[in-house]
Amino acid sequence: MNYCDACGTRLLQRMCGETLRAYCPQCRTPKYRNPMAAVAGIVLQEGRLLLVRRAAGQTYAGKWCIPCGHIEWGEDIRAALVREMQEETGLTVRPQRVYNVYSNFHAAHALSVGCWFLCDVVAGRLHAADDADDVRYVTRAEVPALAFPTDEWIIDELAADGLLRRG
Ligand SMILES: [Zn+2]
Repeated sequence: MNYCDACGTRLLQRMCGETLRAYCPQCRTPKYRNPMAAVAGIVLQEGRLLLVRRAAGQTYAGKWCIPCGHIEWGEDIRAALVREMQEETGLTVRPQRVYNVYSNFHAAHALSVGCWFLCDVVAGRLHAADDADDVRYVTRAEVPALAFPTDEWIIDELAADGLLRRG
């Protein structure tokens, strides 16, 4: 963030309390930098977890993840989940309870907070599309190389909870 999003003035760096922050000398306000919100959908079928492979052009292309995406400005988190699941897997889901929430620190310049929901599939036919180029249901033993460490944590928890088959 180099310029003020409100007035376009070049931002300065200034100590605000004990934190060095971007600061707009025109608006006389600090510019807070916050993590993005992301949402992921846990779909289980007979003890197997649905994963997608990240397509060429995506970050971490070729690695696998629990289907996920960012929430658009003005979009409800559950609506974002339904949209992302539809786009990447062709499945229409109904979000159930939040399974877990974690901060993602793996990308220093794209910090985010991820919210993993358990999902029921209500319609659709499974196929990879959009940001994904393959889809697969896996047991714990079959999990391929993953893009995100927090997906590893979720997968371990699913196995510990008896929701994901180990082999
Ligand atoms: Zn400004």
